[in-house]
Amino acid sequence: MSKALYALTIHEALAGMRRGAFSAVELTQALLERIAQTDSQVKAYLTLTAELALEQAAAADARRAAGDDAPLLGIPMAIKDVLCTAGVRTTCGSRILENFTPPYTATAVRRLAEAGMVMLGKTNTDEFAMGSSTENSGYFTTHNPWDLERVPGGSSGGSGAAVAAQEALAALGTDTGGSVRLPAAYCGVVGLKPSYGRVSRYGLVAYGSSLDQVGVLAKDVRDAALILSVMAGHDDHDSTSMPAPVPDYAAALTGDVRGLRIGLPDEYFIAGVQPDVEAAVRQAINLLGEMGAEIVRVSLPNTEKALPVYYLVATAEASANLSRFDGVRYGFSAGAGSILENYRESRGQGFGAEVKRRIMLGTYVLSAGYYDAYYLKAQQVRTLIKQDFEAAFGQVDVIACPVAPTTAFRIGEKANDPLAMYLSDVFTITPNLAGMCGASVPCGFDAGGLPIGLQLMGPPLGEEVVLRTAHAYEQATTWHTHWAQPVAVGA
Ligand code: GLN
Repeated sequence: MSKALYALTIHEALAGMRRGAFSAVELTQALLERIAQTDSQVKAYLTLTAELALEQAAAADARRAAGDDAPLLGIPMAIKDVLCTAGVRTTCGSRILENFTPPYTATAVRRLAEAGMVMLGKTNTDEFAMGSSTENSGYFTTHNPWDLERVPGGSSGGSGAAVAAQEALAALGTDTGGSVRLPAAYCGVVGLKPSYGRVSRYGLVAYGSSLDQVGVLAKDVRDAALILSVMAGHDDHDSTSMPAPVPDYAAALTGDVRGLRIGLPDEYFIAGVQPDVEAAVRQAINLLGEMGAEIVRVSLPNTEKALPVYYLVATAEASANLSRFDGVRYGFSAGAGSILENYRESRGQGFGAEVKRRIMLGTYVLSAGYYDAYYLKAQQVRTLIKQDFEAAFGQVDVIACPVAPTTAFRIGEKANDPLAMYLSDVFTITPNLAGMCGASVPCGFDAGGLPIGLQLMGPPLGEEVVLRTAHAYEQATTWHTHWAQPVAVGA
């Protein structure tokens, strides 16, 4: 039996459209029907742009008829709602931006659109990307397609769930401390966080500017490589985007790991890791060894300091970045009396509890008298963490470890315990602190049938070796061929 159109990967869909088996309009309709059937349960989308998607699909078909074969021509994707889209509401998962429609489009999205992407809609996120479960969304919580009572991870949980529920062929997310890799792991799809500066942040609503990066959630590694090739590269609108040339990432997918050295960091296999997560990750690494990679133990001694460092740096940057939402310039305004009252009321009503917590913490660590003790110290320790990785990458090409200590937790389980929530990020924040890249690839299921992710970290601009390793592992296993059934049979 041939696959339903919504179930195709990007490379399969492109092959089908190239041989004329179906059109971009038909493909887009199939996705919109799938969304209509499943999204009332999964709740991945904050905004659907069905009409626009069909227009874009018709335009893609016209381009193809005229001989165009752009790399994403006619491919329906979803975009995390922290990336600005001209003319389409962009909320950042926050009530303060409930009615905000940006006048311009983020560079990453624009590059995909120029390559022919069809945008299905904007996906749910923790408010301003602050969270690990989408429970901090100001609108609703997204449900994990593998178990609707569990979180999809966050903050790009809407994007992870949309891909896992086959409500988009792929999606963009953003990753400040794990927000692409964590939902990828919890939802059983591929997640790729590029190196800091690999993809332009122009039009990405800033959370932690020295950590933020646009990433991809996809059905397989080949699709992730394709999307990265389209959206990476320097952008005059973002001075931190790297001028390094963009390789054809698909060309790195040789299927071969022979000769690669893969680092196994002692500090990432610690007490508190769910036993079946550790077992699956170790088994994956053993398989890479059997396939010809050399497995080398490495040490990253400053790992235990990463979580506090991250939550000082990220909140400091957030407190500065979020000062622009003042009830005057963007979005919601309480319309209260004096200018000060209006600031206070607009921010007080517009922001949710977690965002307020972070603004307060960030303001505190930057304030006179505490700056040296907290923010400056955190930046110094950040350098030590970076040096750990520089030393490790002198010995190995890639580092392999779990994405998260557990599989997807239950909705509500950690919602009132911020520290427990922050601990979900313990293995994903270091690549952001050190400007590195990282991927999550499905590597098994726990006893309850929930997906487990293998994390592969690479040095700055090491996307090719990360993708090569991820792809070789994926091709040697069948995890990426398992799909969630988010809708009860007969529902
Ligand atoms: N969970 C982390 C946080 O809340 C990471 C979020 C992200 O990567 N955007 O900050």
